[in-house]
Amino acid sequence: MTRASVRLRLTLWYVGAMVVVLAIYAGCLVWFVTSGASRALDNRLRGDFHWAAEMAEQKPDGTLLWFEGATGDDEDSPWLQVWSAQNRLLYRSAAAERQPIPESAALAGHADNRIARVATASVPFRVLTGPSRVARRPVVLQVARSEAGMRRTLRDLVITLLLSLPLAVAAAGVGGYSLARRALAPVDRITERAHSINADRLNERLPVDNPDDELGRLATVINAMLGRLQSSFEQMRRFTADVSHELRTPLTAMRSVGEVALRDRRDAAAYRATIGSMLEEVDRLSHLVDRLLTLSRAEAGLMKPAPDVVDLRELAEEVVAHLGVLAEEKHQSIDLERTGRARGIGDRVIVRQALINLLDNAIKYTPEGGQIRVTVLDDPAPAVAVTDSGPGIGADAAPRIFNRFDRGQQSADGDAGSSGLGLAIAKWAVEVSGGRLSLEPAAGGGSTFRLVLPAAREQRG
Ligand code: ADP
Repeated sequence: MTRASVRLRLTLWYVGAMVVVLAIYAGCLVWFVTSGASRALDNRLRGDFHWAAEMAEQKPDGTLLWFEGATGDDEDSPWLQVWSAQNRLLYRSAAAERQPIPESAALAGHADNRIARVATASVPFRVLTGPSRVARRPVVLQVARSEAGMRRTLRDLVITLLLSLPLAVAAAGVGGYSLARRALAPVDRITERAHSINADRLNERLPVDNPDDELGRLATVINAMLGRLQSSFEQMRRFTADVSHELRTPLTAMRSVGEVALRDRRDAAAYRATIGSMLEEVDRLSHLVDRLLTLSRAEAGLMKPAPDVVDLRELAEEVVAHLGVLAEEKHQSIDLERTGRARGIGDRVIVRQALINLLDNAIKYTPEGGQIRVTVLDDPAPAVAVTDSGPGIGADAAPRIFNRFDRGQQSADGDAGSSGLGLAIAKWAVEVSGGRLSLEPAAGGGSTFRLVLPAAREQRG
């Protein structure tokens, strides 16, 4: 069985609740009216009794007489019987003649002012029998009234209720349906818009009528999700485009070097040179692929950092020693300044890679004979600053220098070591350890890259 729409179900619930409420209301109303009418009937009966006791007259011959008012056969002409103390019928009104109640003789035997309900062929009667005195004679008065009037009132009430109930239910149905429709209209709009959003239209957003209600909050949350999807899609697209571009450059270079070499017959030395320059391009390619792999593994969360205490002083010494030969080749000097213990928290291998990238850049972009300073500080947090005397990084390039494939002012076909990924990797490496990597201009025109780690708590004693 297919499930009905939310709109239909809401309407059915609404109508159901309405029927229950109306039924309870109608039941209470009928009960209230019935008990009120019954009490009123009993009161009228007692009124009849007093009237009967007061309106008695004794004729000179000793017989009793009552003024019966209009003696037509309308309901209000009094039903009255008078019995002697010996249970002999002394008087019977016209109404009592017309509508005899056989049980009345038996009831007259127990004159206790009680109201008895007696069924007759047509409608039940209420009979009040009680002792009284007329002309100083003890008698038993008996008055009665039919329940016909009361029953008619009740029947009219029930008919009115039964006729109006379906109308009320129909109105509730129509009202409930249009309420549900109005309430759910934003859902329809959201569904319709969500249908049209695909990978090519991720810039579209769901309509938010009221950001504070439930549907508005849902749409806002979905919109935020779409925003994240959009930015990851864009990132992925940019990344793919950048990667293909980066891979094409060395491949094109290799191809043209190869083609030129094949054009004329050459000697062995020329071929060696060709192969050498092709190998340089292969180096460049493998360097690029290595870095790409590092980045994509980092992003896929495959490289789980193992945080530990990192002694930045020791790490700086190690990295300076490691890259020292590159600086020597360019006749650069590297000064290592240590002003503190600088013990931070991070993954040693990852932080080491970041520091290598920073120092490698400093060597790469500082001209021959330049100076590089590596400073280890402890205040206010454990940090290593790498300052070079290179060209520096312009204010316009600085904000994007940490983006992938961004090469600042360098041309895209720079040397084999340039991929535009080094700083992106360094930034990831420092941030994944909870630290910060920042760039500031250095005093002599070069740049200072500062790597800051969260401080390790010192164990004393
Ligand atoms: P690359 O592989 O090109 O060095 P990076 O991400 O490490 O990639 O650096 C991005 C760009 O930032 C470099 O191409 C260069 O223009 C600039 N850059 C990085 N470090 C320095 C520095 N110490 N001095 C001047 N420019 C730098």
